[in-house]
Amino acid sequence: MTTTLITGGTVVSATGSMLADVLVDGETIAAVLAPGSVLLGTDLAASVDTVVHASGKYVIPGGVDAHTHMELPFGGTAASDTFETGTRAAAWGGTTTIIDFAVQTYGQRVMDGLAAWHEKANGNCAIDYSFHQIIGEVNDDSLQAMRALPGEGISSFKLFMAYPGVFMSDDAQVFKAMQVSAETGMMTMMHAENGPVIDVMVKQLLEQRKTDPYYHGVARAWQMEEEATHRAIMIAHLTGAPLYVVHVSAKQAVEQLAAARDIGQNVFGETCPQYLYLSLEEQLGAVSEEYGAFEGAKWVCSTPLRSRAEGHQDHMWQSLRTNDIQMVSTDHCPFCMKGQKELGLGDFSKIPNGIGSVEHRMDLLYQGVVDGRLSLERWVEITSTTPARMFGLYGKKGAVAVGADADLVIWDPQRPKVLDQQNLHMRVDYSPYEGRTVPGSPAAVLSRGEVVVQDDRWVAKQVQGRGRFLKRGTFGL
Ligand SMILES: [Zn+2]
Repeated sequence: MTTTLITGGTVVSATGSMLADVLVDGETIAAVLAPGSVLLGTDLAASVDTVVHASGKYVIPGGVDAHTHMELPFGGTAASDTFETGTRAAAWGGTTTIIDFAVQTYGQRVMDGLAAWHEKANGNCAIDYSFHQIIGEVNDDSLQAMRALPGEGISSFKLFMAYPGVFMSDDAQVFKAMQVSAETGMMTMMHAENGPVIDVMVKQLLEQRKTDPYYHGVARAWQMEEEATHRAIMIAHLTGAPLYVVHVSAKQAVEQLAAARDIGQNVFGETCPQYLYLSLEEQLGAVSEEYGAFEGAKWVCSTPLRSRAEGHQDHMWQSLRTNDIQMVSTDHCPFCMKGQKELGLGDFSKIPNGIGSVEHRMDLLYQGVVDGRLSLERWVEITSTTPARMFGLYGKKGAVAVGADADLVIWDPQRPKVLDQQNLHMRVDYSPYEGRTVPGSPAAVLSRGEVVVQDDRWVAKQVQGRGRFLKRGTFGL
């Protein structure tokens, strides 16, 4: 087996930082040692196969992105990243595990939906991956099938309170599914927006000829995110289900989560880089020479970008510090402008919903460290350690510890990167962060002991198929 010594770096974990060397044996971490250790009389650096020098750099556990949608069918098209291109882009940015969403569509059997996702991903991923299960139709059959998911290594499922007639579960369905969550220990994940009200808002805006992308943000009002979040929390309280609200963007929804946590309820919230950096006014309201007011289509996602004047972005950063929001995922779901986002020209409701950022979660959040919004340790916690613990991967992922998978990032704080489209590895024809430069980026990335990216080169022998499916346990927070 191949041995690697990462030497001279600062190992950063969720609980502290220290100068240490990391010895990798095969696919796992064999030791975390005082720098320059001589072990049983052996000079380690002279005896290993590979030495990676990390002086002046941080050695962190590889990122865990718990919310991606590779190849997701949506609105007559499909997300532009495949499992191959999307997982490779993730690795370039320092993320070494993704949890994608297998989809049970309306009328389909749950296990058929899961099998279809295995087929898309199997043999194609560059890094390790797992699935949550979307339950698109809660009925007697799917409730029964859900009980078998933990045995398949799927310990979380997602429901929608939005998208009536497509994915939406009504309150009775949410209640029944959460009872299964309470019974099995599976995590209920919730897209919390009041879909029926939003759909009326959409229709009324379109009738008033308000068809630009900006109105996507107007229609999906924060009141309907706060209301649905509250409703989900109360049904979870009644059933005893653990609840994880995905892509929280409204500060009022955070307040609902914080209040429930304060009384001891098992509820958690995730936000995404777009809700920290981007806004209704600047992005959804953008105008360009090429697209006019349709430029904003680049940033149409749900929940929507919120008003900066209302202070949602600043509040979200603060919530990450105070642990009212526990982690950051991407909701990676890219669509090209050409031929995809353009489906919504003249009607914002037909713009495929999604932004791609699986490659830029680690660097955009590291910007928060440089800006003094997060500590180094909190950065590691919200991007790697907590996602691993929340979704039953901790011990294997999310930690620089003996016995853990050697998923490691050598983070160079002095390695700026320009997030322009021509530098992307994601398969999409624009960058949602065009013109932005982040201060640090990975000098090297290891996945299960193998160096996959080094000095801006892909160096792993294999891209496709080196990633393995991870069976997950129930959550460990
Ligand atoms: Zn999503």
